Amino acid sequence: EVLDSSDGADPLFYLHGGGNIVPGLEEELTGKSVGDKLSVVVTPEKGYGVPGGPGPQPVERSAFPPEVQLEVGMQFHAEAPDGSPLTLWIAGVEDDHVLVDANHPLAGVTLHFDIEVMSLRAATEDELAHGHPHGPDGTAGHHH
Ligand code: ZN
Repeated sequence: EVLDSSDGADPLFYLHGGGNIVPGLEEELTGKSVGDKLSVVVTPEKGYGVPGGPGPQPVERSAFPPEVQLEVGMQFHAEAPDGSPLTLWIAGVEDDHVLVDANHPLAGVTLHFDIEVMSLRAATEDELAHGHPHGPDGTAGHHH
């Protein structure tokens, strides 16, 4: 099943070492050069994790802003009882409640990537400080 592709679209930019992509993919891309082609298989451990915890839990629909259109797979941030930040995903939407899960929708999935390195440049200071790329030449995407 093809989950995502940049075929016919702009290539994906990422900051190497910034944790922008799954660890198993970042590892394989270390030391690669422009023109290199790779087929990478990433295990769940180095991808989106191994499913754990109690699984999907029901939460009242009223706990979410009414104007937000809730969809399965949507990611949001919450706070654990001890105050630490939590990333959660919506696993189901019912009439009066929503199922939320701490597992990424692709947790437990072995991922296959077919990749070609299209370009490579040094990161700017801003990009290093932000931990993510600012477009093809490092000047784009300054709306944050
Ligand atoms: Zn930035």
